[in-house]
Order: sequence, then C-alpha cells, then structure tokens
Amino acid sequence: VGFNEFLGNKAAVERLRRMIAAGKLPHALIFAGARGSGKYTLALMIARTLNCKVQPVTDGLPDFCGVCESCVRIAEAADLDARIAESLEVREGLRETDKRETRILIQTDPDVLIVPPDPPQMMIKIGQVRSVITSSHRFPEAGHKRVYIFTAANFMKEAANSLLKVLEEPSEFAQFILLAEHPGELMPTIRSRAAMVRLEPANFNEVMAAVQKAHPEWRATQQTLAAKLASGAIGYARSFDMEAYTAARADAILLLRSTLENDDHSALFKMTDAYRAGADGHAKSLALLRAAYLVLEDMLYIADGAPQLVRNVDIQQELARLAGVASFAWIEQAVAGLNAVESGMRRNLLRSLSLDAFAARLENTAVR
Ligand SMILES: [Zn+2]
Repeated sequence: VGFNEFLGNKAAVERLRRMIAAGKLPHALIFAGARGSGKYTLALMIARTLNCKVQPVTDGLPDFCGVCESCVRIAEAADLDARIAESLEVREGLRETDKRETRILIQTDPDVLIVPPDPPQMMIKIGQVRSVITSSHRFPEAGHKRVYIFTAANFMKEAANSLLKVLEEPSEFAQFILLAEHPGELMPTIRSRAAMVRLEPANFNEVMAAVQKAHPEWRATQQTLAAKLASGAIGYARSFDMEAYTAARADAILLLRSTLENDDHSALFKMTDAYRAGADGHAKSLALLRAAYLVLEDMLYIADGAPQLVRNVDIQQELARLAGVASFAWIEQAVAGLNAVESGMRRNLLRSLSLDAFAARLENTAVR
C-alpha cells in the first residue's frame, strides 16, 4: 500500500507529496486528466495521507499506512460506482417529497465527503454544495483535514457560484479536490482559485503489465481484452470483472445476431425476459448496452479494414462473421438504436431496458 501503488505520473505525485511535507498544499486542487488517468485514485490517496493516523514516510516523503482506521474507511469509497448505486437505492426508497430534496453524497469517513454528479441530470447541484458548506464549518478530528472531492467538473450554475464563494473564503482545515476531464468546463474564477495538477493516462504496455500481474490465470487474449477496454485506466483493468463482462457480451451478441439474421427468436425472448424480471435488471441492462456498443464498434473496425483496433480480441472470429453479414447502414442503425435506449434509461433511471423494442426496431430497419 501507499503511493508506490500509483503507477505513472511520478512527477505530479511527487510534487503533491512535497507540498504536503512543507505544509503548503493549496487549499483547492484541480486534478485534470482523461478518464482512467487516476484522478480519483490519487484524490483518495491524498485524503488518506492528510488524515492517516500513522503518517508514514517513504522515499523521504509523506505517505499513508493503508491499515489505520482512517485509511481503511476512506478506501471504502474506492469503488465509487458501487457507493453511488447504494446511495441511489436509498433515495429511491424515500417518499416522493424527500426524494426530490435528497442529493447523492458519498461519505465513508467523517472527514472525507465525496460529491459525484447527481442523477438523472448528472450535474453537481446546489443542494450538494450546500451540504459541503455546512460540513466545512465543523471541526475535523484533531490533526485531520476535512477533504471534499468533487468527482466531475459539470456544475449547475448556482452550484458553481456557491462553490466559488467557499473557495474565496476557505476554512483553514478544508481541502478541496476537483476532478476534471475537461477543466475548461469549470468557471475561470474557480480555476484561478485552485492549483492545477495534470495527469496523463497510462500507455497500453503499462496497463497490460498491471493486468498480467493481477490476473495471471487469464488467457493471453483475455488479458489483452481487459487492457484494451481499460483505455489507460489501470485501476479499471486490474479490477475488471471478466465473468460479468463476457456474460453481458454474450447476451449482446445474441441480441444483435438474432435481429441481424432474423432467425428463431425464442432464445432472444427468454433472454430479454430475464433482464426484465431481475432486481438487478437496470445494472445488467447497462452492462449489456455497453457491451453491445463495443461489439458494434469492433464490427465497424473490421468492416473498415482496421481489425488491429478491435478490443474484443478473444472473439475475433465471431466478430468477423457478424461483420461479414451486417452492412454499414445496419451497424449505424444499431448504434442509433442503442443511443435511443440509453437516453430513455437515463430519463427513467430504474426502469429496465426495453430490449424487445430495440430488437424490433432493428429488425424493421435491417438493411443487408
Ligand atoms: Zn493510515
């Protein structure tokens, strides 16, 4: 454990640790970088370093122990998607009036508050920033900082103005970390009050090495699959759920194939029924959608004569066969259909995907 687990971006990490050692960490930081560059992982490491009860030093610089009470609690927020899903489930269970007032916030440690974009609009809202303001007036545990991590840069206007006020008059023990894929989305006045730290995504070989180390039991094509799907995100690659992905992908291919080849639909109906019935139907539907996108994109790469770009390398033959029977127009139609299903799901977050409607739509527009 500790900063040696953070791969890549050595200079940026060292700079942050030097500032912590000197007690000169700016009260607001922007971690800027593409998805997978490690913004969130690094933010949680900084939070642990500031609040670790052991305060170890490695390579002459501040680190975190990973095993004290604070480190363990903060690390529980590492699986952000899972924490958000839990908190959404709680909100869904509330009365209608309370539901409207309740914003998604993630807190696994009393001194660390994580603010993700609030569904369904996926924006950071005024209610969330108000919670931050209220909490930043409370004292942290002795010697600790109160750490606020905003996981995206898309704020609603009121929320951004409100955050700006906090940054203008920060309390001495508050530490703000804003994560941004595109820092230009943040108001210039917010940017000017924070120090920018740029993070580069890992290259393919670095990701591949991490996957091989974490999953020596996988076949070489499976390791390549995980590394390619990660697009630079080492954490994603290491914790890639091979079983769940291949199951979702098998269903996605069944869906695409049965509409493409117009054959017996009983298997398709059985599959879509399973998606409707299950309590985890929403998450499963999203996984299927994502897998279907990837399969269609790979089919386009093959049709385009660029098979080296294919990510689902473990099923290359099957993809080539599908690409052989599908026309460009059909693939484009299928992508458009998926977009429609996905935006429908975003509006009705917990309603399961209407896979039959999607299949019917595709079949009607099938062009060979
Ligand atoms: Zn610790």
